[in-house]
Amino acid sequence: MSDIVLSTSLKKGDKVVLLSGSEKGKTGEVLLLDRKRAVAYVKGLNLRKRHLKPTAQNRSGSIQYKESPLFLSKISLFCESCRRACRFGVQIVDAKKLRVCRRCTKSFD
Ligand SMILES: [Zn+2]
Repeated sequence: MSDIVLSTSLKKGDKVVLLSGSEKGKTGEVLLLDRKRAVAYVKGLNLRKRHLKPTAQNRSGSIQYKESPLFLSKISLFCESCRRACRFGVQIVDAKKLRVCRRCTKSFD
């Protein structure tokens, strides 16, 4: 077994949990990552109301909910087997990098 190296890389499609704020503890799937701004858009989390003005197609106008960005420091990878946020590391297995939970060593990839 090789050493587990600390990693902070998240990927699109990862299940993450919110660490702070009013929605603390809620989980969702990463929809989009913006590494330059260090934010992520997570499905169903940090929704903001958007009022749409009436248009030709939609005469009455409507309210839509849209994900707004979350700082990467506010979210963490969620481990299904620990049922909690966890630190994770990278383990090299067969020359492939696998992200593993540092508590239960379950692989995320
Ligand atoms: Zn775990």
